[in-house]
Amino acid sequence: MTDEFQSWGRYPRVGDQHVVRARDRHALPPFDAGRPNLAYGNGRSYGDVCLNEGGTLIAMRGLNRFIAFDEEAGELVCEAGVLLADILDLVGPRGWFLPAAPGTKFVTVGGVIANDVHGKNHHRVGTFGANVLAFSLSRSDGSHLHCSQTENPELFAATIGGLGLTGVITQARLKLRPVKSGYFEGEQIKFRTLDEFFALAEESEDPYEYTAAWIDCLAEGETLGRGLFMRANHAETGGFEAPRSLPLAMPATPPLSLVNRLSLGVFNTLYYERQRTAVVVRRWHYNPYLFPLDTIADWNRVYGPKGFVQYQCVVPMADARDASHALLTEISRSGQGSPLVVFKTFGDVVSPGMLSFPMKGATLALDFPMAGGKTLSLLDRLDRIVAEAGGRLYPAKDARMTGDMFEKGYPAFGQFVKHVDPAFGSSFGRRVLRGQR
Ligand SMILES: Cc1cc2nc3c(=O)[nH]c(=O)nc-3n(C[C@H](O)[C@H](O)[C@H](O)COP(=O)(O)OP(=O)(O)OC[C@H]3O[C@@H](n4cnc5c(N)ncnc54)[C@H](O)[C@@H]3O)c2cc1C
Repeated sequence: MTDEFQSWGRYPRVGDQHVVRARDRHALPPFDAGRPNLAYGNGRSYGDVCLNEGGTLIAMRGLNRFIAFDEEAGELVCEAGVLLADILDLVGPRGWFLPAAPGTKFVTVGGVIANDVHGKNHHRVGTFGANVLAFSLSRSDGSHLHCSQTENPELFAATIGGLGLTGVITQARLKLRPVKSGYFEGEQIKFRTLDEFFALAEESEDPYEYTAAWIDCLAEGETLGRGLFMRANHAETGGFEAPRSLPLAMPATPPLSLVNRLSLGVFNTLYYERQRTAVVVRRWHYNPYLFPLDTIADWNRVYGPKGFVQYQCVVPMADARDASHALLTEISRSGQGSPLVVFKTFGDVVSPGMLSFPMKGATLALDFPMAGGKTLSLLDRLDRIVAEAGGRLYPAKDARMTGDMFEKGYPAFGQFVKHVDPAFGSSFGRRVLRGQR
């Protein structure tokens, strides 16, 4: 079993995967007729959407060429294995930026379309897919289809957020946004309660393009809901180059998770108390602001050999405060969790994908070191709170939700399955989409 084709959470770990490598976008390796096929981007999904136990993975990183860049219009055409990091290096110094980016830049264009990822500016621009103009899709019937809002629109909508199950995206045309600098300017504000968080989120929506909060997942009683709220806009001045910093890496996997109740309690208290004033005005380069975890290579090893699961849910705004309170109460009682918590509100920009995750509401994302049954039963309890509030879980982060939870959360599921390529499948699909190979 190699580490090369696992997922970021290192849970579940799969062994029986045949791997072929895509190198030419006009001539992909032949699809496997006997086993389900699945494209693999850069494995930055946490759970099993990028895994294919018993099947064939088509490794996409070899499709890493830029095809065209219209500097006037801010449109880029590139192959699907290009990393967002490489796009930023190319377009940033020319005054352009990605309209939406997740919390790591080491992800491929195909991977972020297939999960229809979101960033801290979701309330303003929607998902990554909302800014994709077109892409090419290869299917097992031999077709190579151009998909956009006007050409093959159903397949366009099924593939954005389609979890790799509709075929292989070989190239994409992306809309960029203009910027004057690679820096962000904004504020970091302490909040003590969930009510304060929601008030900050509401007042920040218009003046700030980027908003997200860290929350102390072990806080309970009067301190439950405390955290730090970050809001920012692209700066008007400053270059694009990142200031020099030392490369950091997690050198090896420790025999046990370094994140436990004790270390978490100490870290969270210090992190919250470290900010002495209510508001701190800050200026960040885009790397530490948008991609803070990318500064430590292989940080996922910190959770030890059993790996970890990330749990990301969204609950509609009407119940967001009460559901978030219930989720945080359950988590702090369990003593499980990690310092890596993101809490934010999504806006109502409609996602183009049939299975896109965001909806208007509040989203909570946090890591849990995998501790077997005790972790899984906590997550089942969280599921019940989310389902009751009419929310859903994010497949890109998931390794264990039930088919029932998925179908209830994604009402367009029935429409989506009509577009699944019969020669494709994934570990996630077989677990969650009934009747899939
Ligand atoms: C530190 C960190 C922070 C993150 N922050 C966020 C965040 O803020 N917001 C967010 O939304 N996500 C976030 N993520 C999740 C990550 O952005 C997504 O899982 C992303 O899709 C991973 O891209 P990848 O290239 O690694 O694809 P993989 O993980 O390899 O694959 C993801 C899916 O895409 C499919 N796929 C890959 N390439 C293709 C292709 N060419 N054609 C068709 N299907 C394809 C795969 O089959 C799979 O279903 C984060 C992940 C990490 C590790």
